[in-house]
Amino acid sequence: MNIAVIGTGYVGLVSGVCFSDLGNKVICVDKDQSKIDMLNNMDVPIYEPGLKELIKKNVEKGNLTFTSEISKGVTEADVIIIAVGTPPLPSGEANLSFIEQVAKDIATEMNTYKIVMTKSTVPVGTNEQIQQIISRNTDQPFDVVSVPEFLREGSAVHDTFNPDRIIIGVESKQAEDVIIELHKPLTEKIIVTDIRSAEMIKYASNAFLATKISFINEIANICEKVGADVTKVANGMGLDKRIGSAFLNAGIGYGGSCFPKDTQALIQIAGNEDYEFKLLKSVVQVNNEQRYNIIEKLKQSLGSLSGQTIAIWGLAFKPDTDDVRDAPAKEIIEELNKAGAHIKAYDPIAMENFKSLIEANENIEWCVSAKEATEGSHAVCLLTDWKEFKDLKLLKSVQNGMKQPIFVDGRNVFTKEDIQETGFEYISIGRPSMKGRIPVTVTQ
Ligand code: NAD
Repeated sequence: MNIAVIGTGYVGLVSGVCFSDLGNKVICVDKDQSKIDMLNNMDVPIYEPGLKELIKKNVEKGNLTFTSEISKGVTEADVIIIAVGTPPLPSGEANLSFIEQVAKDIATEMNTYKIVMTKSTVPVGTNEQIQQIISRNTDQPFDVVSVPEFLREGSAVHDTFNPDRIIIGVESKQAEDVIIELHKPLTEKIIVTDIRSAEMIKYASNAFLATKISFINEIANICEKVGADVTKVANGMGLDKRIGSAFLNAGIGYGGSCFPKDTQALIQIAGNEDYEFKLLKSVVQVNNEQRYNIIEKLKQSLGSLSGQTIAIWGLAFKPDTDDVRDAPAKEIIEELNKAGAHIKAYDPIAMENFKSLIEANENIEWCVSAKEATEGSHAVCLLTDWKEFKDLKLLKSVQNGMKQPIFVDGRNVFTKEDIQETGFEYISIGRPSMKGRIPVTVTQ
């Protein structure tokens, strides 16, 4: 099949590359010329495990090309995938200006029957708007299909090849057959539904996952008060098949480019229909507050934070991605700075993206390794559970270079047994504080 993907970001690039790997001819389009230039030079603008190799393989096979000219993509394509961003407006509603522009551009370039397949996360009714915009700008026949995307950054290639399900919102039999054919190599679990329900499935899924996270974080906060251990509680709950263990890891809350904006957008979608989504509003509020618990924990341990040096391990909103959109690290670092702390920050991949997110000042130092960040620090805060931070050897090796061996674990990655092999005072989320058994020599 000939496919054009409009918007070559986290979703568009991964989807385009994976469809090309299945034997389709894919052309990825983006208005950002620098992105296209990088890709044409075999450089990948985002970090995503396995992606670079797949791009190289499929470009060499002749199945994958990149362009900034939408006309080149649309004229040849049977299926045109919309994968542009839908970032939040100040009101919380999704900004649909990129979608509307792309719909117009596609219509202008159409030369024969096309299927326009929306992968961007869009409010209920948006695909109908896309249909109207295209109709106003072309006489060519076309169908609009909603196929919401569920991939997770950090495992996006794996998720695309192994989806739990494919949702196809469609009104035309001709388009339905083509889109089923396109996705058949990925899974048999294909759900065909109406377009509005497909749009809602995406928001409802993200809202539910966000709810699980805020739920377990509140349980963690209560565990701290009553002396229970949230890891054991989550394990006991998760074994119940009706509950499931996924998304029950207590921590500093969710971030990233999807959950924060999609929960806000769903609150707005409901609000526009005079429905107050009370549960989801609380989920968002709990999440907004949860990241600041880390700062309270530091204050309890260190007293005033003024003049203290805090090492930050992890800036990306989650491991295995360089995406820092709505990363909790931003607000935590800004708040620590406000309290007078000096920050030594390190992330294996997301450092450069993070630097453009935060205002530089002399109280933020960028470090080249996890170890360098801890040297001379009064405490370490783990904010992203990158694999390299879970290494007990690393943990043991950094304690002697610190001014105080305090470890605040925002992701609960270490066990009691691990900590006993160190000299750290270990503070985590929803679990009793622990102290290691090994004496340490602290630097002055
Ligand atoms: P992104 O910001 O990484 O990429 C969007 C791309 O679209 C950018 O490269 C931008 O330059 C390009 N673009 C914008 N307007 C354009 C135009 N007129 N013509 C050509 N290109 C244009 O966004 P993303 O993270 O890939 O998300 C895209 C959509 O997918 C969003 O609606 C998002 O909610 C949804 N989604 C994202 C994820 C995720 O994990 N990132 C997962 C599921 C769904």
